[in-house]
Amino acid sequence: MNKPLILVVEDDKPIRNLIAATLKSHDYKFISAENGAGAIMEASSHNPDIMLLDLGLPDMDGVEVIRRIRSWSEMPVIVISARSEDRDKIDALDSGADDYLTKPFSVEELLARIRVAQRRLSSARSEQIAAGSLFVNGELKIDMAAGCVFLGDEPVHLTPIEYKLLCLLAANVGKVLTHTYITQKIWGSSWENDIASLRVFMATLRKKLESDPESKRCIQTHIGVGYRMIRIDQTERDENDQ
Ligand code: CA
Repeated sequence: MNKPLILVVEDDKPIRNLIAATLKSHDYKFISAENGAGAIMEASSHNPDIMLLDLGLPDMDGVEVIRRIRSWSEMPVIVISARSEDRDKIDALDSGADDYLTKPFSVEELLARIRVAQRRLSSARSEQIAAGSLFVNGELKIDMAAGCVFLGDEPVHLTPIEYKLLCLLAANVGKVLTHTYITQKIWGSSWENDIASLRVFMATLRKKLESDPESKRCIQTHIGVGYRMIRIDQTERDENDQ
């Protein structure tokens, strides 16, 4: 796949320059915007592949930028937030952001997140996980038509909720799903109780996938945020659970 076009949205000039220099030195093509209105304009006129979005913008909340862009674009959005914006980060993920970086971040971390987004982009383009299809990630196989899960050739017996959870993570591979998003999808609500239940179901699901260490690793926990399934075959070294 060709290098994607990245839209960098950041009002803080030193940070924008740092990101620009990093992208340039890794041969990424990029465009930039200093505020929300500029971001929406650049996104609609250049149709970038990935957006790096600072949440604290002068004219508009970054979450609002995502909401507007999500009405017509599925491009991966990586949110960049300050520690004080943790709640906003979760709102951003619930509004359709894919991933997040917390300031201060390292250049390596930034590049790793971009690679994850690139993979999501290429898998979304090439495979389109449809109901009734086979999902494969490392040793993990989900036969969605039959409702069966395998690790290698061994069947894995999951409860209906564990199966729904696994399918939800698989359908969004590469993307961080928040507790609220997951509980809404699974139970149709997101009370504290549901989030506590979610932890329990995730623990048992992981235990069942544990016989294969790679499959266990494929579900990342983002403490205080949610979970993400990562692509096993190309995980490289970009694991930085937060
Ligand atoms: Ca800012």
